[in-house]
Amino acid sequence: MALIKNETRVGFIGLGIMGQHMAGHFLDAGYGLHVHNRTKSKADGLLGRGATWHDSPGEVAANTNVVITMVGYPADVEGIYLGDGGILARAKAGTYVIDMTTSEPSLAVRIFKAARKKGIHSLDAPVSGGDIGAREARLSIMVGGDKEDFDAILPLFEVMGENIRLQGGAGAGQHTKMCNQIVVAGNMLAAAEGLTYAMRSGLDPQAVLKSIGTGAAASFLLNTFGPKMITGDFAPGFFVHHFIKDMTIALKEAETMGIDLPALKTAKGLYDQIADAGAREEGTQALIKAYGT
Ligand code: NAP
Repeated sequence: MALIKNETRVGFIGLGIMGQHMAGHFLDAGYGLHVHNRTKSKADGLLGRGATWHDSPGEVAANTNVVITMVGYPADVEGIYLGDGGILARAKAGTYVIDMTTSEPSLAVRIFKAARKKGIHSLDAPVSGGDIGAREARLSIMVGGDKEDFDAILPLFEVMGENIRLQGGAGAGQHTKMCNQIVVAGNMLAAAEGLTYAMRSGLDPQAVLKSIGTGAAASFLLNTFGPKMITGDFAPGFFVHHFIKDMTIALKEAETMGIDLPALKTAKGLYDQIADAGAREEGTQALIKAYGT
């Protein structure tokens, strides 16, 4: 059953490129919003619009009945949920906790089990759609957990996204996101290789994009990142270091399943190479650098 809106106090932890926009939509939708971020200044915009600041993730959990997290790495997720005085230690029974970070499926299962012992509802709900999808509330949200909890939270997911699907039990959202990242890795390789060829062959790469960006090779990634690869605009929408984190998780899961993913391995190798050369904090379109472009 859906939560009653005026009894819902939303906590949001992690106000980076994605979280700032996702949290802001709750203010637009008229929800009470309680926030925390490691670097407080990133909350300034939301505080100016009426959000309430708390000094720790545990404090957010103690003052809300829905806690959403969008931090960086699995280690961050583990610390804020399972650490001393963290979210599960401070949340009241009946609270919903939703991790939207791209993280490990096994960690999502651990959080789910620890939450259940305390009568807390847990969902893993990573997203796709990039910073544009976050800004425009058009994210694809991939959810793992119990159906009743998914149904209860669906109206809140609809504040941030458009394509919202329950994929299975705890961890299924994170596994689905790994499928997404495997497809993204292959797509980014293809875009960088096709555009390197365009530039080296003496063609006008912008004109090439106009042709191939609507044909059988068209994709969201080609059309979003292709122009940036050509002009050398490497400002981050999605950090190289976060993508390496995702590919590392996917490769580890694939190994556990006994499957070989050669394209993903190649992509990870090239991203490691550009990260080592200084592109860690750049956007994933910086992959073009691996081709000497
Ligand atoms: P980001 O800009 O680095 O945002 C992460 C935020 O979490 C930062 O503001 C960080 O604080 C905060 N944080 C980290 N650990 C914390 C902790 N222990 N306590 C409180 N705050 C903490 O990254 P992002 O691009 O928004 O991505 C967030 C997650 O979504 C990542 O897992 C990423 O892989 C995934 N994702 C990103 C995209 C995208 O296009 N950007 C798309 C889909 C999924 P500081 O401000 O101090 O660094």
